[in-house]
Amino acid sequence: MDKYFPSSYEDSRARFLQSLDLIQQKWPSTQLESHPLKNFPELSIDWLWARANNKKTLVIISTAEHGIEGYVGYAMMKVFVEEFAPRLNPENTGLLLIHGLNPWGMKYHRKVNENSVDLNRNFVIDENFDSAINPEFHRVKNLINPQTRIQSFGLENIWFGGRVIQALFTAGTATVTKATLLGQHHTPNGFYYGGTNYEEGTSVAMELYRRGLEDYQSVIQVDMHTGYGPRDQMSIIIPPLDPMTSEETSRKFNYPLVLKINAEEFYDISGDMGAYYYELRDKYFPDRHLFACGFEFGTFGSSLLARIRSLRAMVFENQVHWHGTKSEKAEQRIRKEFEELYFPSEAKWREKALADGRQAFEGILRAYQLL
Ligand SMILES: [Zn+2]
Repeated sequence: MDKYFPSSYEDSRARFLQSLDLIQQKWPSTQLESHPLKNFPELSIDWLWARANNKKTLVIISTAEHGIEGYVGYAMMKVFVEEFAPRLNPENTGLLLIHGLNPWGMKYHRKVNENSVDLNRNFVIDENFDSAINPEFHRVKNLINPQTRIQSFGLENIWFGGRVIQALFTAGTATVTKATLLGQHHTPNGFYYGGTNYEEGTSVAMELYRRGLEDYQSVIQVDMHTGYGPRDQMSIIIPPLDPMTSEETSRKFNYPLVLKINAEEFYDISGDMGAYYYELRDKYFPDRHLFACGFEFGTFGSSLLARIRSLRAMVFENQVHWHGTKSEKAEQRIRKEFEELYFPSEAKWREKALADGRQAFEGILRAYQLL
């Protein structure tokens, strides 16, 4: 059994529930709350509320918004619970620790939830699920959303390579990137589908975030992700509405890599959770302080070739899900590649991820004078 990285959703959840004891040592009134999924009641979103007497700052840690990314997410939760929570002041600092925003995706090693919705494209402001956004998707749908059964990995790979070259020459890298990553509300079997109404996980998170801002003067959130950016350095991702630039944030946290969610530094996202939290604060709680960021642990790397490899992993996984394959070997290879994209097996990668997570927690909590 790996000390930090769980082997299944059930393993991760059981370990998380055990952290209640440790948290209660400092915050005796801590409560565990759960939301079992309507159609999969054996799977639940679980969270611990550790309340401060003087409600100055709330620290939120959340995992598995993208299901499969919750395995690395749990490892970071464990680091926080065991190494950082004991150093916080329970008098004026509360905790909201959320395990498994997308428990179905975590259990079945998918990024999306049980309705094939990407939760980080579902936090749309005012329920404006606009099917007109991302027309670029249609331009390159042949590349990113093929409607065919996979015959063999080799043949599919050759066909994919041809489509990549064609798309890069006709549409260009910027269009392919936007079409792929922005999110969309028009193609339910395409990836980064943002849905047409709020998903269960989204509604649960929205309610918790509102309670956080109602109760506390300041909220600091860290949401855990994997898959994008350089392989050997975790990126701290900040939403466009945060007033600090990435350089300022990097200095403030004494952390080497900070990226803002925009087309220049990261990529554009519609309906992402962090942006929603800032909108919520601006609209209803303008006197509250908020800092919401993501830890994004890169896996394949950020070169053009690495990004094409990531795209291939996502396209093939989605294609197998919707259209299947006759070849068991192809399916295994596709699942393994998808797993490596979001939960790398290499021991060295995992050690560096833990080290980066520790450094970033230390920098953020210190910058807000919580340590
Ligand atoms: Zn993610």
